[in-house]
Amino acid sequence: MKTLCLPAEDPASAKAAAQIIRRGGLVAIPTETVYGLGANGLDEAAVAKIFQAKGRPQDNPLILHVSEAKEIEKFCHSIPPAAYALAEAFWPGPLTMVLPARDIVPRRTTAGLSTVAVRCPDSAVTRQIIRLAGVPIAAPSANLSGKPSTTTAAHVLHDHDGKIDAVVDGGPCRVGVESTIVDLTEDRPRLLRPGGITPEQLIAILGMLEVDKAVTAPVDHDAVVKAPGMKYRHYAPAEPVVIVSGSRQKAAAYIHRHFVPGDRVLCFEEELPLYQDCAPLAYGREADVASLSAGLFAALRVLDDPAIHQVYARCPEGGGVAYAVQNRLRKAAAFHIVDGEVEE
Ligand code: AMP
Ligand code: MG
Repeated sequence: MKTLCLPAEDPASAKAAAQIIRRGGLVAIPTETVYGLGANGLDEAAVAKIFQAKGRPQDNPLILHVSEAKEIEKFCHSIPPAAYALAEAFWPGPLTMVLPARDIVPRRTTAGLSTVAVRCPDSAVTRQIIRLAGVPIAAPSANLSGKPSTTTAAHVLHDHDGKIDAVVDGGPCRVGVESTIVDLTEDRPRLLRPGGITPEQLIAILGMLEVDKAVTAPVDHDAVVKAPGMKYRHYAPAEPVVIVSGSRQKAAAYIHRHFVPGDRVLCFEEELPLYQDCAPLAYGREADVASLSAGLFAALRVLDDPAIHQVYARCPEGGGVAYAVQNRLRKAAAFHIVDGEVEE
């Protein structure tokens, strides 16, 4: 199959993409978070193609993308007032809500769950495609399963050229990490995945927020978890990644003590002078955490090279969007963190 590359700025692209979706095909869609691999979320056979193309485990559900908030009433029931308040505050935007699913949503989309994840993305062309298709688009991130997410159309083609019908090229993703996921199906709202909408922003609307333990700690492979995707190895380049915490100077001293040729250092731009002889790669500026979230996955893709044997990574501290960057980097490192302050 030839994979079409449809420029977002071409007015014909949304129509062409919507037609492919209606016919049951696969279209990679740009969003502000990452590129998604989309299909008609109400068509079991089309949704099955997403799992096949990605090599995605069957028990890892997809997110249903809608073009406006009121559409969720078609796919969800028992919607609490908090969902409307969050949609009002953050949609279109990088927030996904988990709500009870109506029967119209195929169990293949929800991976057998009675709940469904819904989101209204902040990409005009993607919302136009959803409107023209007349159906919600089910999409996970467009990477091959387990690999770093796709934040450019070139990343999507690297993973899926010749295997999907089209990619709509909307340029690099602004946020760069996947959406924040909040579960609204229990008594208390629960953060399942941090992202561009921060815990602080959610608490301002919800008053409180529980944080699922899978956000901060590794999950046992056999565990029954609230967000099934959380238990799988994620974002992982080909070789081991270790996060080196601590002050700039102490971390650099630790890395210099352990670095051997063939290793790489993933650091902040401000730190590049410290690692001139350690094959450094910067993913953004520590002083500008949005640049770190926007650049993280592209950098992890560069480092996805079997010739590298070890990556030493620097991770931002603190809350806000840094919290999402920490979560993705810790997962890429399989939660392997060493303290650069400790001499060893
Ligand atoms: P991705 O954005 O590629 O990580 O894929 C969608 C994410 O949404 C996965 O990590 C899923 O675990 C999560 N998700 C989708 N539906 C649900 C649901 N009903 N309950 C909890 N998490 C969900
Ligand atoms: Mg993903």
